[in-house]
Amino acid sequence: MTDYLKDKIYARFDGKDLNGLCTNLLSQQIMTWPKLRESYELLNKTKIKTIVCNGFTIKIQHNPGRSTSTLADTRPEAIGNRPCFLCLNNLPEKQKGILYRDYLILCNPAPVFYHHLTINSINHTPQEIEMNIGHLMGLSKDLGDSWIVLYNGPKCGASAPDHLHFQAIPRGNTPIEKELTYNKKSVKFSNTSHVSIYYGDSLGRVCLILKGNYIEAIEAAFNRLMEALKSIQKTSDEPMLNIAFFSDMGGLSLIVFPRSKHRPDVYFREDDARIAISPAVIEMTGVIVTPLERDFIRLDAETVESIYKEVSIDKKIIETVLSFMS
Ligand SMILES: [Zn+2]
Repeated sequence: MTDYLKDKIYARFDGKDLNGLCTNLLSQQIMTWPKLRESYELLNKTKIKTIVCNGFTIKIQHNPGRSTSTLADTRPEAIGNRPCFLCLNNLPEKQKGILYRDYLILCNPAPVFYHHLTINSINHTPQEIEMNIGHLMGLSKDLGDSWIVLYNGPKCGASAPDHLHFQAIPRGNTPIEKELTYNKKSVKFSNTSHVSIYYGDSLGRVCLILKGNYIEAIEAAFNRLMEALKSIQKTSDEPMLNIAFFSDMGGLSLIVFPRSKHRPDVYFREDDARIAISPAVIEMTGVIVTPLERDFIRLDAETVESIYKEVSIDKKIIETVLSFMS
């Protein structure tokens, strides 16, 4: 174990009560890391508004603390020219974490929700999901039912596409949980071995939900989905996607948001029409974060619907994907 890693360990996961360790970590970090305390004070002051769109509801959060992430330059040339801020030797001095397998569980220094975690690989290895989907689901199992684990693809939301990381947030914060669980906004497409595939219905953005009781079966179905997406898009690269995963009484749910692009065209406007939002997994779950007050004020149902449609994969492609999988 390197000295860098030793220096960063607040606690080690030994197979028991990861949820409790995370609660203790947050308390400890708020006491000892002034930047985090300040971030949580700012989070308390964020403004939130609810927008009712055509068939679904979303929240807009005005959060100036997220400007670094929302406005991050993730082009390969920019990434190659900066020190990696998720590498152990570049973490803030006061930031400590829980050693969890080959990952370090840390408090996100720019939280969108109360108790927002970032889970970084202890190695500088690229952000990619196929090799690591089992880690993501295992982490969710160890955290328990009160968390959602999140993933951003390297080209659609990951602020460090060169360093493997997940996020975790407490259950109950995202509109899509309610839409899927209580409003039943999904249509069953097929049953394969131990996994049912659902298609998000009237949610304004394309999402697929793989549901089952066994991690291995969901992983196999996810791998088939990835192969189908790659084959149809004629690429060997990771298809653009965001992922949310949680478990509850109904079993395990892997929500996949296949994407066509990261940022909408309005992000790149150079006049007053520019809207500074960068849809990543949190936005796809229904919480749109904007660092600018003017965008918070002017975002409306029509704009949100148009942005969701623009950044989601074409519905026709996903219908072909589903037919490949059945
Ligand atoms: Zn790194």
